[in-house]
Amino acid sequence: MKKSIKRILLVWPEFEISFWGMQYSLHQVNKKAVMAPLALITVAGTLPRGKYDFRHIDLNSQTITEADIEWADLVMLSGWGPQYRSILRLSLKCRKLKKKILIGGPLASEYHQILRNVDHIFVGEAEGFDLENLLDEIANDNAPHLIQGSKQPDIASNPVMPRYDLLDFSLYWQVTVQYARGCPFTCEFCDIIELYGRIQRTKTAEAMVSELEAVLNLGFRGPVFFVDDNFYGNRKNIKNILPAIVDFQKRRDYPFYFYTEASINLAQNPDMLKLMKQAGFYCMFTGIETPNKASLKETRKVQNLKLDLVEAIEICQSYEFFMQAGFIIGFDSDPDNIADLIVDYVNTTGITVAMTGMLLALPETQLERRLNSEGRMMGTAGIDQFGLPNFITTAHPENLVEQFQKVLLGCFSKESLNRRLNKQQSIFSRAHPTKREIACTELEFNAEHLHLYSKKVLQDIDKLKSSTKFDEYIQAHESYWNSKSIDGLQPQAEQAVDVVPDGAFT
Ligand code: SF4
Repeated sequence: MKKSIKRILLVWPEFEISFWGMQYSLHQVNKKAVMAPLALITVAGTLPRGKYDFRHIDLNSQTITEADIEWADLVMLSGWGPQYRSILRLSLKCRKLKKKILIGGPLASEYHQILRNVDHIFVGEAEGFDLENLLDEIANDNAPHLIQGSKQPDIASNPVMPRYDLLDFSLYWQVTVQYARGCPFTCEFCDIIELYGRIQRTKTAEAMVSELEAVLNLGFRGPVFFVDDNFYGNRKNIKNILPAIVDFQKRRDYPFYFYTEASINLAQNPDMLKLMKQAGFYCMFTGIETPNKASLKETRKVQNLKLDLVEAIEICQSYEFFMQAGFIIGFDSDPDNIADLIVDYVNTTGITVAMTGMLLALPETQLERRLNSEGRMMGTAGIDQFGLPNFITTAHPENLVEQFQKVLLGCFSKESLNRRLNKQQSIFSRAHPTKREIACTELEFNAEHLHLYSKKVLQDIDKLKSSTKFDEYIQAHESYWNSKSIDGLQPQAEQAVDVVPDGAFT
């Protein structure tokens, strides 16, 4: 007899403690996790209402029991690299209970080789894909291990209303929505453009406003995060969405204040910044990556070369944005004092949340392809965000690690954080009281977490430096560069795969 799947358990795996997770300070706002997960409720939204029973468990804020797993006909997961260990633990539990797992999301798309023990891996996107048919195939043991989903589907003509009703909003500091996927830029290290494309796809203004209405009707008020790869990646469409959000906010008396990620060239568009301020945006993350122009050029971050990066941050701040930024150490063109340049830049601009990590060559990126062609790859990038580079760097590893330590000490001491915190909070002195409260509270718990987390990372680095793994890592670098200078040959570094410290800084 033909079997079918009725009950689907959606599980959002747990993140490792990281810069992003705010695990050390969320108690200050009485929340269990920073942001409500969006991936699985979007997948659930592609299926007809009423045909399936769903339950959603977020392991960052909830626990899962054997009874939960027993209830389900299928366990569906999604996730990123820093959720890998949680995914492994969960798949073992499901295997023990003989429950099938279907996993999708960025980890599945980029690293499906390491998920061999999961029953079904979904690569690609869910919109426009016949998921009902796949569920029937899984139920009847006819589905393949690796499933190719939609490749960069048009999300405007395939509108999906995420099943926000499956979430308990009270657990989260912010609710997440998504307007756009993909980014037009060409940053060499970026996996977003490989996964989601360089032609940015956006939802319609109507669909976006319906989602905001749905969140509001479920009783949420407060910070909402547009989890777009680059909110400013489609200059034509943003002109439609922003007036619609402004209108929604005015009609509904500003129930939300928004946070997003955008490229820094947004600073060159005062009209958009003005509209974003009117719409109630209070925070923006941007990829500065490095204040060193040669490194920006090397990594093809051309948009950051076309403007003064200090001035650009100040312009955004003048429109009531508290600015967060990402920084990377490990470019070939980094000077020996790259840490001083980053610390100086961060302290000058007042960026409180300055996420700094080592350069990693993620799978199938331009960077990985280049390093492969130069014989410098040392295996697949670690799935941990703050591991050492998975390639032979031009900097000596000891200097690289020293620079990283200097950034952590220079950016996240209490004194330095407090100075920047005060500067950023003053941006909101004339903002609407609710906006000011959201922004200032978020800044405070961000700063507290960054201080405590950076202390943990510094301890991890000390341990790493005295490990044999680090000695081997250094040795691999030295023998690569020695052989290169001796006979001009291009040596292969693949033999060094095993010496990449796993999760060195997490
Ligand atoms: S701007 Fe950001 S999302 Fe766009 S290519 Fe560069 S790193 Fe990727």
